Amino acid sequence: MAIATSFAKPKNTVTRQVHGTQGKVVPGIEALVGRLIQAASHRYLKFDNTEDATKLPVPEPTGSYLLYLHIPFCVTLCPFCSFHRVEFKAARAMTYFDALQREIRLATSIGYKFGEVYIGGGTPTVMPAELVRTLDLVSDLHDVTRISAETNPDDLDGNVVCQLREAGINRLSVGVQSFDDELLNEMKRYDKYGSGAIIRQRLTRVRDSFDTLNVDMIFNFPHQTDASLQRDLAILTGEIAADQVSFYPLMATRTTRKAMQQSLGNVDFSRESSMYRQIADHMLASGYTRSSAWCFSRGTNMIDEYITKQDEYLGLGSGAFSFLGGRIMASTFSINHYIKLIEQGVTGIVRQRMLSQTDQMRYYLLMRLFSGCLDLDAADSHFGGQFRKGLRSEFAALRLYGAIQKKASSIRLTDRGYYLWVVMMREFFSGVNHLREQMRHNIARESEVIRTAGS
Ligand code: SF4
Repeated sequence: MAIATSFAKPKNTVTRQVHGTQGKVVPGIEALVGRLIQAASHRYLKFDNTEDATKLPVPEPTGSYLLYLHIPFCVTLCPFCSFHRVEFKAARAMTYFDALQREIRLATSIGYKFGEVYIGGGTPTVMPAELVRTLDLVSDLHDVTRISAETNPDDLDGNVVCQLREAGINRLSVGVQSFDDELLNEMKRYDKYGSGAIIRQRLTRVRDSFDTLNVDMIFNFPHQTDASLQRDLAILTGEIAADQVSFYPLMATRTTRKAMQQSLGNVDFSRESSMYRQIADHMLASGYTRSSAWCFSRGTNMIDEYITKQDEYLGLGSGAFSFLGGRIMASTFSINHYIKLIEQGVTGIVRQRMLSQTDQMRYYLLMRLFSGCLDLDAADSHFGGQFRKGLRSEFAALRLYGAIQKKASSIRLTDRGYYLWVVMMREFFSGVNHLREQMRHNIARESEVIRTAGS
């Protein structure tokens, strides 16, 4: 589901044959770049236990931030999912939504202003009335222009859709993954979210209900054939005519690999570039343009994934991440601990790490070029004139590979660069999943703190 469906890559990276700048076959250059990104992101996406903090930094007085809200409940726990999600229990979720609303009020009282909201999970629409109540609160407190939410196909019923639209959601992102019944069965989604035919009907019914209807898909499932991928592509651009389609490469994390292997089979990364090429060729030939390396949009007013445009965002709720002032921050993954912290009048944020200037610049480069284009003057002004100088060797390597082209004061990804970026983002999210594993590891310690405090 949107950016929130990311799976990290296993250690057994395959060696691949790919084409270099002169059209020659270069052994595994993308795999090598992927490994470098993986190593770098594992290095800087790491919390040491010394920076525990529940205090929010003071916001810029003139700044308008993106607000990310995490709803960690799901009715079905998919075996491949590495996200922070727990089984849905109505009473617990009610208490959680109350706590989340208190946390929103707390951030507002500190001075945060929000112009855009992104709600991810888990399944944000698991309790539509509570989600609406939360969004009403945000809209009462802030001048919000865009709200993007993730959902699953079973929540696309008329009543829920109406409530979501009235709550101001203008981009709805539906986690579909595939329309192939065999693959849906392997993913253990068929019984809960319906067959490919049912999902198609639901999507067609709601396609005009939001400014942007995004469909999240995954490619490179072990048993996915080219014919199955082509059928999915035809459905998306023909029958459904989705406003936007995001195609994520299948990934595997340490924690999900075993369950994935049992249900889906072994991931073969050597097929990834050819499948990506089929997707890009089909989407571009069908009149879509690239919003990011793996997101394709129809029309000009689509609302894109938030990460490519927003420099700073505040994440609230258990399992949320924030990026503020060069600092990565994470909220506790323990729902009980989260509720306790909120009751104490502090935020759920328990870990943070300041990135070095170079790592901040690399992060900026990765996120901005993910959209396909980076304004070098804006980047230099953001980093006090150091951006071009500080990343000289990164730019040289990207040019040598043929991944970027310079046009006036901006750089753009080439066709070859887009696939390289898919690999790099896959590996970056591997680092994010590593962070999640660390945060899960802390749950036992945090529960101990609650027990000790209560005794
Ligand atoms: S519904 Fe989405 S968030 Fe929930 S377990 Fe499945 S993939 Fe993960």
